[in-house]
Amino acid sequence: MMLAKTKQTRRQQIITLLSQGTYSSRELSQELGISEKEVCTHLPHIARSLGAQEKELVLIPCQCLECEYLFGSRKRFTKPSRCPRCRGERIQEPRFIVKSRSEK
Ligand SMILES: [Zn+2]
Repeated sequence: MMLAKTKQTRRQQIITLLSQGTYSSRELSQELGISEKEVCTHLPHIARSLGAQEKELVLIPCQCLECEYLFGSRKRFTKPSRCPRCRGERIQEPRFIVKSRSEK
């Protein structure tokens, strides 16, 4: 198997950041100097690989800042453009954090 030995992979970098605090995909993209789209392609893989290590990627859902509608039931990694309830566009981005299962 070919593994980069000198440098952490993107996914490891994201896991390291999310183990230290919450980040939105936009903040992760700024932190790592990659596009937000690329961040979003890594997240489902990260969620899966963490499952094998007694850890999980927790999605803190986005919320409409105008009517407080919670986008909780939707498992999505990107920000919706509009609130389905009030049509507002001031929506807080979803944030992520890595937690170990024993912490809960
Ligand atoms: Zn709303």
